[in-house]
Amino acid sequence: TRTVPETVPEAMRETAATTPAQAVARAQEAFHSGVTKPRAWREAQLRALRTMLVEHEHEVAEALHGDLGKSPTEAWITETGFLVREIDHTLRHLRAWTTPRRVPVPLSLAPGRAKVVREPLGVVLVIAPWNYPLQLCLAPLVGALAAGNAVVVKPSEVAPATSALLARLLPQYLDRSAVHVVEGGVPETTALLAERFDHIFYTGNGTVGRIVLEAATRHLTPVTLELGGKSPAYVSEDADLSVTAQRLVWGKFTNAGQTCVAPDYVLATRKTIDGLKPLLAQAITAAFGEDPSRSREYGRIVSTRHFERLTAMVHHDRVVTGGRSDASTRYLEPTVVEVDDPDDPEQLVMQEEIFGPVLPLVEVDDLDAAIDFVNRREKPLALYVFTSSDRVRQRFTRDTSSGALTFNVPLAHLAVPGLPFGGVGASGTGAYHGEHSVELFSHAKSVLSLPTRPDATVFVRPPFTALKEAVV
Ligand code: NAD
Repeated sequence: TRTVPETVPEAMRETAATTPAQAVARAQEAFHSGVTKPRAWREAQLRALRTMLVEHEHEVAEALHGDLGKSPTEAWITETGFLVREIDHTLRHLRAWTTPRRVPVPLSLAPGRAKVVREPLGVVLVIAPWNYPLQLCLAPLVGALAAGNAVVVKPSEVAPATSALLARLLPQYLDRSAVHVVEGGVPETTALLAERFDHIFYTGNGTVGRIVLEAATRHLTPVTLELGGKSPAYVSEDADLSVTAQRLVWGKFTNAGQTCVAPDYVLATRKTIDGLKPLLAQAITAAFGEDPSRSREYGRIVSTRHFERLTAMVHHDRVVTGGRSDASTRYLEPTVVEVDDPDDPEQLVMQEEIFGPVLPLVEVDDLDAAIDFVNRREKPLALYVFTSSDRVRQRFTRDTSSGALTFNVPLAHLAVPGLPFGGVGASGTGAYHGEHSVELFSHAKSVLSLPTRPDATVFVRPPFTALKEAVV
């Protein structure tokens, strides 16, 4: 590893931490200095991050457009604006969330005092994916800073423009001793994972999730895994199909389907599928026009590898609407397909998370069959149910398990700061956003204090004379 010469001025020494090992060492040094602990420091970091987002909104939008063809409006709603709201919510409540909480002591320990103190964990590693490359890097950072940690951030190399922008901007606004950006792909992440952290927060696919978990085991480092999988949308016969179609189209084709909580496929009876098909086509046209390739609001597939994976899926299924593509611009039209046999390995669209603008319609006989379909597969990150029936709502709430369950709307649970965001089973472990982030990146330390007099321990100490006398 390259060492920084003593002659380099302090400010430059901080930016000179370029290797993963150096970044971690400096973050550890900053944490141990105690600089990150006061609430004033945490609030200052959050305010500076907010300023960065607002001052560089256009540059951020350009980077997101460069990486994913994201429209500036969508970028604001789903990334930059989302983060500003998360920061504002955190700043509003941070004092309450970090104030020690008194808990009652049993009579035998009176007049002792007990409290739960949230203390920062230390140095947090955030490994982010490419699909919301800003939000999924910075939302965990907000929580980790709010809880008083030093942080090493590893943006996704698959979204290079956003990664480079974060590497340039974050050191300009945040405490450079405590927050470090390490850019790169597998070699850099592997080098980071060899280091010792106090928490690792990983968002991405389950295969890499396992690598992260294995690496963390060596140091007994706690890990949050924000993973993906197939998030189903059940459309009940009693749903308003027109509204349902519009909301499904919004949820599915935002970011060209590259959203971890996008409705992956639709489950419905034959009658509902037949009713939905023309309405989905209409909703796509209403959102993106007759030719979505010309819409400013419609994104592109992130890489050639993903483009080829997605177009291969479409060719194996019956296209209801869409299906056109252009390899040179990695454009894939918003596409709806019908799946005859979801267990047929040829129907690739049902074999893995789609993570692109392809919406399969899968027929089920009834509500019970839909619940059974969901329960026979991995627990989803999100489960969407479109219905006007309380009975259907109750059945899904009671009889299925998923990271989140929402009725009549996809994606929107992320906009409720009080709701924990995370998966269960194969869709992940741990959850964040708002207070849940502060909880996640803190240790809940038990603090008990007894006065020396009266001496409550006299009853539990041998030779137990006081206890025996009290009983007799
Ligand atoms: P990705 O390819 O950007 O990978 C994620 C991170 O892992 C990157 O920083 C990358 O550098 C790192 N990485 C990749 N290979 C590695 C290796 N061999 N060793 C160590 N690190 C490695 O993103 P992705 O995984 O393609 O993201 C898509 C997946 O993420 C989907 O499954 C999606 O559902 C899921 N996702 C989940 C959430 C959530 O909040 N739960 C959000 C977005 C995406």
